[in-house]
Amino acid sequence: MNLNYIKNRERMTEMKNADNGVAYLTFSPLNKLNCVVNAFSTRVGGFSDGIYSTLNLNFNQGDDIEKVNKNFEAMGEAIGVAVENMVMAHQTHTANVMRVTKDNSGMGIIRERNYHDIDGIVTNEPGLCLVTSHADCIPLYFVDPVRNAIGLSHSGWKGTAGNIAKNTVELMKNEFGTDPKDVIGIIGPGICGECYEIGQDVADVFTEKYKGEEQLKVVRPEVGKEGKYLLDLHAANCYNMLDAGLTEKNIYVSDVCTMENSELLFSHRASKGKRGGLCAFLMLK
Ligand SMILES: [Zn+2]
Repeated sequence: MNLNYIKNRERMTEMKNADNGVAYLTFSPLNKLNCVVNAFSTRVGGFSDGIYSTLNLNFNQGDDIEKVNKNFEAMGEAIGVAVENMVMAHQTHTANVMRVTKDNSGMGIIRERNYHDIDGIVTNEPGLCLVTSHADCIPLYFVDPVRNAIGLSHSGWKGTAGNIAKNTVELMKNEFGTDPKDVIGIIGPGICGECYEIGQDVADVFTEKYKGEEQLKVVRPEVGKEGKYLLDLHAANCYNMLDAGLTEKNIYVSDVCTMENSELLFSHRASKGKRGGLCAFLMLK
């Protein structure tokens, strides 16, 4: 297959500067639809210090919880979403996806979740903002503008190998009657295929799953490094979205690499784990 997703990389990601000092990324193919709020946070704005500087949206990396709460409020203010209307996945590198409703509002941010091991969430309720957490792993945004349904997933190497993209679309199909051909898919900012070094064990997982031309794009030996490979999660997720039934023209890939932009974005690899966290946001208006 002649994969032309590279074409869709250009000028897809826009940076917005909110009045409260928060800067965030947003994706023009979704903005054009006019039916969703979509965002990916940066480090700019907020209240955290040091390695969490300054818009840390991760409660589990050792930062002061009060500051993270204030950061969520600032991010919410920037994108026009109240924190009470956000619902966050419970990410443990699974390929599990769950439908959420207003009953889950605020979970993972201002109150306890009643679900576990969920790396992707879907809904058809306007005003309920889906949230996933990131620091190199790829956010996947799905919007079905026909059935008015959305999905948001966290796709690190395990989620990608488990094809969480397909699981997300399948759940949208089952719950909302989504036709995958209507779905716009965004493969968001994360560690790129030039930066993501992996060992033999992970490479084996991907050479098993992707064959022929797909394999050549997804995983390749790193020049001059015995037993080391480079993994392109963006390419792999593109194939996963095609496998889920999305059409090539509806798949967009961000050209923003977290590791190469670690001043602007938290990167687990660039910081050797000493970092805060970013979040992806998606909400039906
Ligand atoms: Zn990179």
